[in-house]
Amino acid sequence: MEEAISRTKKETKFLLTYKFRAYPSVLLEYRMENWLYVLCNLYNHALEERKRTWKEEKKTITYSHQQNSLPELKKKDPTLKLVHSQVLQDCLRRVDNAFWKFFRKEAKYPKKKKLSEYNSFTFPQVWMKQKDRLVEVIKLEKIKIRLHREIDWTRARTVTIKREPSGKWYVCITVEVELDEILKEAQEKAVGIDLGVKNLATTSEGEFVEHPKFLQRPERRLKREQKKLSRKEKGSNNRERQRKRVAKIHEEVKNARRDFLHKVSRYLVNNYDHISFENLNIKGLVQSSSLAKLILDAGWGTLITFATYKAVMAGARVVRVDPSYTTQDCSVCGFRVPKTLAERLHECPECGAVMDRDYNASVNILQKGLARLKGGRVGATRT
Ligand SMILES: [Zn+2]
Repeated sequence: MEEAISRTKKETKFLLTYKFRAYPSVLLEYRMENWLYVLCNLYNHALEERKRTWKEEKKTITYSHQQNSLPELKKKDPTLKLVHSQVLQDCLRRVDNAFWKFFRKEAKYPKKKKLSEYNSFTFPQVWMKQKDRLVEVIKLEKIKIRLHREIDWTRARTVTIKREPSGKWYVCITVEVELDEILKEAQEKAVGIDLGVKNLATTSEGEFVEHPKFLQRPERRLKREQKKLSRKEKGSNNRERQRKRVAKIHEEVKNARRDFLHKVSRYLVNNYDHISFENLNIKGLVQSSSLAKLILDAGWGTLITFATYKAVMAGARVVRVDPSYTTQDCSVCGFRVPKTLAERLHECPECGAVMDRDYNASVNILQKGLARLKGGRVGATRT
């Protein structure tokens, strides 16, 4: 999932990304696939060139060097002329970014991309007066998008067209907004979510979402049928039939859980504009805790993922905050009150506040989320 918000150079401005479902015609889809093919080749070529030059001459090739050699490259490979030159430049910038991430030790050494991994292209500088200009700028034929949210086209900055693995196309439009606007909007409808073992989610508005009981029945059935499967003779028809039965229940449980998590995330995104979750190290938790199965079943990670992509579509924001002390600190006065997992109540000896432990945590998460927004470190819908 891409970042929904990132900071621009000017201190008071943010970039917000809106994602719209696009419905290209067959012809347009064909042309966009073609672009991706050309861009993927260019990406790999640029990567290879940097690698080779470093290996043979111990020299680092810069972005501007590669950009300046584009005209030369176009002569050798005329397919490059099919693609808008700004989009070609953006492709080279992606190579540059990949290397910078490596130099800063944030990523591994950049690898060649397969065609299936190269699935978006960006128009880096779009100054649109109205949405019709989108067509003009892109120099592709008209692309139909479902506009589920009004956006201020005069503030649009970049346009990215993206193909999801499902084959669906999306148009992501980045709009520049003032920090004050975001803050004002965020504080109006902001919420903190505590994800827990007792309740799946507790919100800072005092709402609780229980773990669904209906998932437990098929799970018991699953266990029973799996036991039966292990008793069947290998290679027998009976075993095959039983294997299919088990697979079917698996599928049912999975679908029911996904369906439930979709509903919960839909509720959150429909009701709140700024949603803070804890940045959970789910892998670590599962490995180190006896609650492993419960945690996996709870689908915390899936819930955050669902909420995050729904938020991008709806123009809402999901942030993840540092989880340390969210359970212990008093959400009223900040006093640290250590508690065991069994203690369900937060009772503050300092200010006398008494409340549900998960509710206390959710308020702390909300406060951290808003503080993060004010501090400007909001690039946080990454999953
Ligand atoms: Zn207190």
